[in-house]
Amino acid sequence: MEDAPRYRRVLLKVSGEALMGKREYGICTETVARIARDIAEVVELGVQVCLVIGGGNIFRGVSGAAAGMERASADYMGMLATVLNALAVQNALEKLGLQTRVQSAIPMASVCEPYIRRRAIRHMEKGRVVIFAAGTGNPFFTTDTAAALRAVETGCDVLLKGTQVDGVYSADPRKNPSATRYDHLTYLDVLARDLAVMDASAISLSRENGLPIIVFSIHEPGAFAAVMRGKGIYTLVADAAA
Ligand code: UDP
Repeated sequence: MEDAPRYRRVLLKVSGEALMGKREYGICTETVARIARDIAEVVELGVQVCLVIGGGNIFRGVSGAAAGMERASADYMGMLATVLNALAVQNALEKLGLQTRVQSAIPMASVCEPYIRRRAIRHMEKGRVVIFAAGTGNPFFTTDTAAALRAVETGCDVLLKGTQVDGVYSADPRKNPSATRYDHLTYLDVLARDLAVMDASAISLSRENGLPIIVFSIHEPGAFAAVMRGKGIYTLVADAAA
């Protein structure tokens, strides 16, 4: 028999860039469908799943596209970009027969639900995948921080960051072949060494609330389910090794 999942409720953060596939901008529907299949596999294990999707494939408040704009206005554009991605992921999950709800931090009544913490938890208890859109609803934040915030608020056991590589490395492994992957790091290791895991506010929030972070490859089919069973390749960020 396969190992039972180690977690009851999890939040998966996927960056907007992960949805681009081989494109340079926007959404690749095949890639979104593939990621949706991995999420469905985890829901089938009986794990309650919620998602935060970034917006970097469309617009970032600090990007060149926003150059010259007032930062707050640019950030609102970035938050709206995450709503586009959330709807794309919702569509892909529903095609697989999953029940889903999008909840936006910026109310958008005819498109999705507003963010309501208790309702989000109830949806997950009923087996629905909840997609948190529009980040924290505040400029000057990122979707990494939104992911840590929602994971803590909704009582998730772990925050997963699906990235381009299979964990946290000492340097970018795509540029530096001698880079080594860490199995375990503490929150302070990440902050002190300025490792590219998540931004400092997301790490601090996770640390203050004892929320473990697992970094794994979103592009490796089946990796999400493997991590749920404590298998596969990943880096754990927590004060004590699991
Ligand atoms: N954003 C924001 N507040 C939030 C979350 C996101 O203002 O709470 C804006 C910000 O401009 C950011 C953009 O939305 O650059 C897209 O989010 P992010 O860069 O985190 O996306 P990712 O890198 O994960 O694709």
